[in-house]
Amino acid sequence: MSKTAAETQGPPCRGCAASVRVPQREVARILAAYLREHPQELADEATCAARLAACATCPDLVYGTTCRHCGCLVAVRARLKNAHCPDPRARAW
Ligand code: SF4
Repeated sequence: MSKTAAETQGPPCRGCAASVRVPQREVARILAAYLREHPQELADEATCAARLAACATCPDLVYGTTCRHCGCLVAVRARLKNAHCPDPRARAW
């Protein structure tokens, strides 16, 4: 039996899915939900701002919100004190 086009092509590209385009207003809600499951210290405001400034000029930032390496929303990842930039070539932070 031959496979359907959906079976041979796999899931749709995440880049085409509305769920990867997250408005800023959702970031606080997503961060709070993440912290409920993974309690941890947050980075201070200056550290977070410096991290987001690095992300803003990074060619691996997609949709203005998401890191191509880990799929994280950088506005969430940058808030986590012990997080780091996941770029395997050179960590920006
Ligand atoms: S690779 Fe690093 S600097 Fe670039 S978007 Fe991801 S976390 Fe930000």
